[in-house]
Amino acid sequence: MPEVNYGYKDGAGSWFITVDTNACDGCNECVEVCPADMWELEEDEFAILEAGELVAAIKEEHRKSVRYDCSPCKSPSGDGSGTAACAEACHVDAIELSW
Ligand code: SF4
Ligand code: SF4
Repeated sequence: MPEVNYGYKDGAGSWFITVDTNACDGCNECVEVCPADMWELEEDEFAILEAGELVAAIKEEHRKSVRYDCSPCKSPSGDGSGTAACAEACHVDAIELSW
């Protein structure tokens, strides 16, 4: 299945948000719930048969800083137990976070 990864690795770990563009139906829920306004809908580059189909993507300006930009979804204690609002909201489980 086509998966698109947004993020990077650094000394502290692996910081990727992965979207299953096959599963994503462009419902816009993740765009609406993200407290950091990191999502947008863009044309699905893999959708050869369905040109113009929209899928969720992390905005360009957040792709090199997801570790920090996602801090609104981290738990106050910083132990990594916070809930990712985008992944929770997605009704087809198209979003995965590597942390
Ligand atoms: S984890 Fe939170 S801040 Fe990060 S993209 Fe998802 S909803 Fe936005
Ligand atoms: S919530 Fe899920 S299905 Fe809806 S646009 Fe976001 S990734 Fe796609």
